[in-house]
Amino acid sequence: MIVSIDKDLCTGCQECSKVCPVSAIEGEKGKPQEINLDKCVICGQCVQVCKSYASIIDHGSEFIEDKKTERKLPEVINEPLFAANNVCDVNKVKNALNNPNKITMVQCAPAVRVALGEDFGLELGALTPGKMAAALKSIGFDKVYDTNFSADLTIIEEGNELIKRVTTGGTLPMFTSCCPAWVKFLEDNYPELTDHLSTCKSPQQMAGSVFKTYGAKLEDIDAKNIYSVSIMPCTCKKFECDRPEMNSSGYRDVDAVLTTRELAYLIKDSGIDFNSLEETSFDSPLGVYTGAGTIFGVTGGVMEAALRTAYESITEEEIPSIDIPAVRGSEGFRTADIQIGDLTLKIGIVSGLKNVIPVLENLKSGKLNLDFLEVMTCPVGCVSGGGQPKLLLEEYRQIAYENRTKASYLHDENLPIRKSHENPSIVAIYDKFLESPLGEVSHHLLHTKYCIRKEVAK
Ligand code: SF4
Ligand code: SF4
Repeated sequence: MIVSIDKDLCTGCQECSKVCPVSAIEGEKGKPQEINLDKCVICGQCVQVCKSYASIIDHGSEFIEDKKTERKLPEVINEPLFAANNVCDVNKVKNALNNPNKITMVQCAPAVRVALGEDFGLELGALTPGKMAAALKSIGFDKVYDTNFSADLTIIEEGNELIKRVTTGGTLPMFTSCCPAWVKFLEDNYPELTDHLSTCKSPQQMAGSVFKTYGAKLEDIDAKNIYSVSIMPCTCKKFECDRPEMNSSGYRDVDAVLTTRELAYLIKDSGIDFNSLEETSFDSPLGVYTGAGTIFGVTGGVMEAALRTAYESITEEEIPSIDIPAVRGSEGFRTADIQIGDLTLKIGIVSGLKNVIPVLENLKSGKLNLDFLEVMTCPVGCVSGGGQPKLLLEEYRQIAYENRTKASYLHDENLPIRKSHENPSIVAIYDKFLESPLGEVSHHLLHTKYCIRKEVAK
């Protein structure tokens, strides 16, 4: 189980049930709760809010040591052990790092760089891409790449898919597919709508697939020796990387996922003083990214990045304003009409999975008409993901979400290139390897199919 509730520690306060978007937490108040795995989308929001933990006074040090072993936590970690928790894969990654036959390639999701510093005492939402890259190099990863690169790649593929669907009468609205908890929810509950999902793999899986093909070629190494690790703000990314279909290179796209919190464990376990690290950059070419790639971490970000590219691709003119405030916002559902040349694109954005049900029902009944829908499970997108640093006070959590969002937009504003199609490493990968968006190689490596997880209730 990726996310679970420890019966020895759960007080039955039911705080976690209030944030669970799919009512998957069951049990009587005051008694240990249980997660209904048929409903759970592995978002980790329960892990974020649980306040009940093992204390030395109540439980004794032996109990705590046993729990640490059971949860596979590194010895050096002295943080409280909470009732709601997720599996820890730090030891798995350490084994790969210590294996001389493995070449380790790591990628970091956009939202990690605006939150990781919090686990080292920096202010909420501190932007630390340079220190994060330096930490990963100090830990010993052979190649320090970036999910922001593959976020740019996703935009090229997804933007072209949207244009194709709009111009050739394909299934609309197209739904974004980069949030694995949303994809799982749709497969579980609305299998009749899975054709609406973009066939694009998420940036995590695209990067993994590229590492073991193009990345292997660039380094002149055998793909079977590559160990691909991703650092994610999300617990459900662990589920996504285990999906059996995610191996189009002939090998698993991603071998292990660490959450932001687990990366902090690994940095501490490696004895690295994060705050005194000298900033460095990600490795080229698979660590080169644009502002469009970095706003994937916030609600509306995938939509904004896609619109920047779709506008210029359709009109062959420069977009009048790179910032698209109409798609930015907070938890809930918002819509906008976006004019692209002669085309009026009707877009919708859902943040917080519980808000998607009325949207899907209205789409089904014809009460709502959209061309493109972005859905993110967590409250304000991946910056508020279940794998991010944990904040016990609700007021701090809200400040952190705001600051992480602001930092993501600031990072975008300050990057020299802000449109995915202008990323020189993206241009190069199509020239040298992928050939064309939605082409044969891209289709094989970067796209996927969805499965019906259970019969829809009749
Ligand atoms: S898992 Fe944590 S938040 Fe949920 S009921 Fe138990 S103690 Fe409360
Ligand atoms: S992981 Fe998410 S979906 Fe699963 S029980 Fe926790 S809050 Fe609910």
